[in-house]
Amino acid sequence: MAQNKILVANRGEIAVRVIRACKELGIPVVAIYSKADESSLHTKLADEAVCIGPARSKDSYLNMQAVLSAAIATGCNAIHPGYGFLSENPKFIEMVEATGIKFIGPSSNVVSKLGDKATAKMIAKAAGVPVVEGSEGIIETKEDGIKIAKQIGYPVMIKASAGGGGRGISVCYNDQEFSKAFEMTSMEAETSFGDKSVYVEKFVENPRHIEVQIMGDSKGNVVHLFERDCSMQRRNQKLIEEAPSAILNDDLRKKMGLAAVKLAKSVGYEGAGTIEFLVDKRKNFYFIEMNTRIQVEHPVTEMITGIDLVKEQIKVAYGKELSFKQKDLKILGHAIECRINAENPLNNFMPTPGRIKKVLFPGGFNVRFDSHIYPDYDVPPFYDSMVGKLIVFAPNRKEAIRKMRVSLEQLVIDGITTNIEYQYAIMHAPDFIKGTYDTGFIAKFNGLIQGEYNEELIG
Ligand code: ADP
Ligand code: ADP
Ligand code: MG
Repeated sequence: MAQNKILVANRGEIAVRVIRACKELGIPVVAIYSKADESSLHTKLADEAVCIGPARSKDSYLNMQAVLSAAIATGCNAIHPGYGFLSENPKFIEMVEATGIKFIGPSSNVVSKLGDKATAKMIAKAAGVPVVEGSEGIIETKEDGIKIAKQIGYPVMIKASAGGGGRGISVCYNDQEFSKAFEMTSMEAETSFGDKSVYVEKFVENPRHIEVQIMGDSKGNVVHLFERDCSMQRRNQKLIEEAPSAILNDDLRKKMGLAAVKLAKSVGYEGAGTIEFLVDKRKNFYFIEMNTRIQVEHPVTEMITGIDLVKEQIKVAYGKELSFKQKDLKILGHAIECRINAENPLNNFMPTPGRIKKVLFPGGFNVRFDSHIYPDYDVPPFYDSMVGKLIVFAPNRKEAIRKMRVSLEQLVIDGITTNIEYQYAIMHAPDFIKGTYDTGFIAKFNGLIQGEYNEELIG
């Protein structure tokens, strides 16, 4: 791949992750950065770095013209979007395609359909994949919404069709709540995502969030790389992810994997993608959305399959066939990821940007810390509060929990408040240890280590 060159259109740990993959593949790599990120690690690890604007995302990482100009000026023939920012923006992808530069991900046409959550549900349904009951596409008026809510029965959720990152979602228990939430959610959607469209679906009580990783290539091959359980969430945002899920048996795993592949094949999907499902108490699964990009929690899948998803994304984008077939893939053990955030769990999880003093990363056999922080690094206040992802891999779930506990004990980030201790407490919560937690867990959790070591609870 000698004449190739990639621009990484992102920041933080994912930019670092992608730069490492490019270097291992021998592909020159260009970083972009905002004024606030001048000394960020990704700018130092890349072969070249281009400033694309002021601190605010709107003026830099979301500035399509600036990002594209940086790619053209540095002679890149591909752009890796990471997650968030422009990664699922069909307009940006279209602009990239028009220049002849390869967008590392599916085509603008596919993203415009699947990135819109209401449309994606209709595509899933058409492909024969079960979806959460709700409106057929977006709803235009409050009155239409209330009619549908009555049909399917309260509680229901109003969701922004362009939403992401757990935002633009409200739960309503009656007509009055619906009326209020409808205006609010549409407004939030307009300001956060530039699109006020919302849709309605049944609120599934305390489900599990289980998602399937898929990979497709330009030759029409699509495979799945099993599931990730992301049920440990706070306000619809993931906090801990693990693979495999503690509640799936081989039969259900196969069914969900096949459903995910069927959906991806129905649109000619290329690249890495994730099909997200909710699983109810009776183990019925329902499609909720698809993420047409690499996800934050992709490392747990890498650990259990031994496959480097980012390298595979890049190879596939350059026209190579997938390097593995479905039958080559096996679950090799158990992986857990804890998101480490600059936030204060004792102060309503308020972000805690500021200067990091000392850092010490845990290590050892099958311990991984994906991060962009280093001693004396300033965590800027403008972006996501995630400062790293601690990932462990072990032969089974019990040993993975033990390894995560030890790794959290040895992870030091001084100078700013983080959620390290909070994550440590979850690793000692009986519902986590037993694997019986659901998306309602955090709302009830007090953040304290419960009882002794809970050794006997580990299955
Ligand atoms: P994942 O789906 O990979 O688990 P998250 O939902 O945690 O990822 O989102 C990762 C990052 O991307 C967060 O910073 C989040 O705010 C951002 N993000 C996700 N979806 C969107 C979207 N539709 N619009 C803007 N930002 C988004
Ligand atoms: P985002 O694009 O922000 O990731 P999702 O549609 O994936 O939005 O939903 C985020 C989370 O919100 C889910 O993981 C789940 O915990 C919760 N959620 C979404 N839809 C429902 C639903 N219909 N019933 C119950 N919980 C839901
Ligand atoms: Mg989601």
